[in-house]
Amino acid sequence: VDIPKDSDPMHIVHVTAEMAPIAKVGGLGDVVTGLARACLMRGHKVDVFLPFYECINKLHIKELALTSTYNSYYDGSWIPTNVYRGVVLGIPVIFIEPSNHFFKGQSVYGGAYDELEAYLFFSRACLEWLQVSSTQPDIIHVHEWQTGGLPLLYWDMYHYLSLKKPRIVLTIHNMEHYGECRAEQLSKCGLDGSIYATEEKRLSLLKGGIVYSNAVVTVSPTYLKETLCSGWLAGTLIRHRDKYFGILNGIDTAIWNPATDAFLPAKFDANNVEGKKICKLFVQRGLGLAPEGLPGDPDKVPLVVCITRLVAQKGLHLITNAIRYVEALCVSSPGNEHWANEILTENSQPPSTAPDARVGREFEGLAQLHNQGSSLRILLTYSEELSHMLYAAADIVLVPSIYEPCGLAQMIGMRYGAVPVVRKTGGLADTVFDMDDKSQPEMANGFVFEGIDEGSLNWALDQPNEWMGIVKKVMQMDNSWNNTAGKYIDIYSSVRARDQ
Ligand code: ADP
Repeated sequence: VDIPKDSDPMHIVHVTAEMAPIAKVGGLGDVVTGLARACLMRGHKVDVFLPFYECINKLHIKELALTSTYNSYYDGSWIPTNVYRGVVLGIPVIFIEPSNHFFKGQSVYGGAYDELEAYLFFSRACLEWLQVSSTQPDIIHVHEWQTGGLPLLYWDMYHYLSLKKPRIVLTIHNMEHYGECRAEQLSKCGLDGSIYATEEKRLSLLKGGIVYSNAVVTVSPTYLKETLCSGWLAGTLIRHRDKYFGILNGIDTAIWNPATDAFLPAKFDANNVEGKKICKLFVQRGLGLAPEGLPGDPDKVPLVVCITRLVAQKGLHLITNAIRYVEALCVSSPGNEHWANEILTENSQPPSTAPDARVGREFEGLAQLHNQGSSLRILLTYSEELSHMLYAAADIVLVPSIYEPCGLAQMIGMRYGAVPVVRKTGGLADTVFDMDDKSQPEMANGFVFEGIDEGSLNWALDQPNEWMGIVKKVMQMDNSWNNTAGKYIDIYSSVRARDQ
């Protein structure tokens, strides 16, 4: 696609704990990469600051080179710190590598160091490097609690030193973690922690980020409303309502493109969906869901796919219910075209295991129970490649989250012609509109249920004839960054300092 260049280019710097694909744990990594690429294409200068985690595979970084060694402050001393430059998917990245134990270990999170102190160190080290290298970007864009301390460090320290021009934007991807912090931990990065701790005992880096940023964004308009109504930070967000915005994430339509996807056995697009049938049969056969000799045409059997992390937020009891429901359908009417296949994959990225061992055991039990039959597969594995194939094969993509700030699975599913069945919450409510909603029939693109009870979900799964008619429509929806990056640019422009 030819993207027109913006007339007034800015220098935007992201400071983040994750970046896809080299340091991705969840949606945060995808968002940073997608937004950075979209801004680059529109003619802006973009750099991403990332901790140089020991686990990063250096082979995935182009033109990697040590730029300099400088000192950054931590707990009364100055830590020699290496700064590297490299390029990831066309995006310039600045890697910060302290000489102490921070960011060492086999995974992005969970190393043998105090995570909160490490990210505070990182936040300050990024500002220190901007100062040392005399770089004054227009915008410093921070993400989540990990870099929520940077706005404090900027306005209460570096802005009094030599950084004058930058303005700060914070994106909250998920309010679940606040970055709760003790005054003495804040003091270790050189701020006087006791000043910030006077109002109340609970200090939070995310709260600091909200108060001290020029603009705060969360990842969907509905999640914005939800966060103003409940949660410990609702009061803070209400006080800062006039600088708080809800902007939907996009998906990277170059990475997620069924017309060119190298992982698929056949390609397809909205105007030619024949390839999708081949992908479906390929997956059904490959997983033993369409054994020879079974009555009926496997293509007529709806294939329901759920690709998710197995954590409470994702609606675990609704997922197990869907497993039981699909199994029951098959038992009661084998050979009937209303019976369904379902495949679930769990995101437990190696080397980390399922966050809750009890949940892990429950799903292992379910896998043993169901994986021998010919209707269900529960694959407790993380695989990028398989996920592409499953989205392409799916007739229905199930996202029954209890809460979901934005959600990517429903958007990716739609791009691959899978009709979404979602709970009405957060970004799911902003991207999926129910077939029965007569108030806006032109928007209808899936099935939306409201309750957290099993009946609502079963009702949604029981609509097989209707979804067939909207496959082409869901594929044509534009959930790309091309669409949504412009809203971020508008916010950057509205807060940037023009007179420096
Ligand atoms: P969250 O960030 O809360 O996990 P999102 O829907 O925003 O949820 O993003 C999830 C991303 O992780 C999607 O790209 C999805 O395809 C991917 N994913 C989840 N589970 C797996 C898995 N088992 N294997 C491969 N990718 C997965």
